[in-house]
Amino acid sequence: MKPIPLKFIKSAPGAEHLPPDVGQEIIIAGYSNVGKSSIINQVANIKDLAKCSKTPGRTQLFNVFEASPNQRMLDLPGYGFAKVPIRTQKTWLSRLHEYLASRTSLCGVVLITDIRRGLRPMDIDLAAWAFEQELPLMIVLNKSDKLSRSASAAAKRQILNTINIPDTHVILTSCLKRTGITDLSKQMKLWLKISR
Ligand code: GDP
Repeated sequence: MKPIPLKFIKSAPGAEHLPPDVGQEIIIAGYSNVGKSSIINQVANIKDLAKCSKTPGRTQLFNVFEASPNQRMLDLPGYGFAKVPIRTQKTWLSRLHEYLASRTSLCGVVLITDIRRGLRPMDIDLAAWAFEQELPLMIVLNKSDKLSRSASAAAKRQILNTINIPDTHVILTSCLKRTGITDLSKQMKLWLKISR
């Protein structure tokens, strides 16, 4: 499977700074330290792609990565960042919801989690929002190398039992062992309409 040819375009403080709302766009969200940057690097097969976009202030709404002007991934760096005061987090969330309601190219949500921690409050909010909007959701259980095969399977089953989501949309990954990345890339390419 070919990597997704992503380029870092910019960090955007709000929806008004995003590239034009054309083509396909997916969101990648997850609490800090779940391995979100590592996943972006893995699907693009570029070692430090997502590192350059780690903003010190953490108040940016989006980091924009493009495969082409019609095929984008928006990384949400401020998601669940614990050190940000609750009021700032609320402003961030309401701006995110404003964005999400207005962007017609948005065609899928990828939620990255640490398999050992399951879904946390902001994950559940985002998943609920995706359902409400009838947007496809993919849940990535990363760091699966940290659990045994049976414990990993149990974590996946638990998600499938609590959320109405297709089996193919819950993916176990390990950036350390490079497992699950092909399945994840395949789904992302489908959403972004990348044919190869
Ligand atoms: P982010 O804050 O969500 O962008 O997370 P990073 O990609 O910076 O990763 C946080 C830490 O988790 C780093 O030390 C990574 O090397 C590590 N990490 C990321 N993915 C995996 C994985 O699949 N398995 C293990 N064991 N560690 C991982």
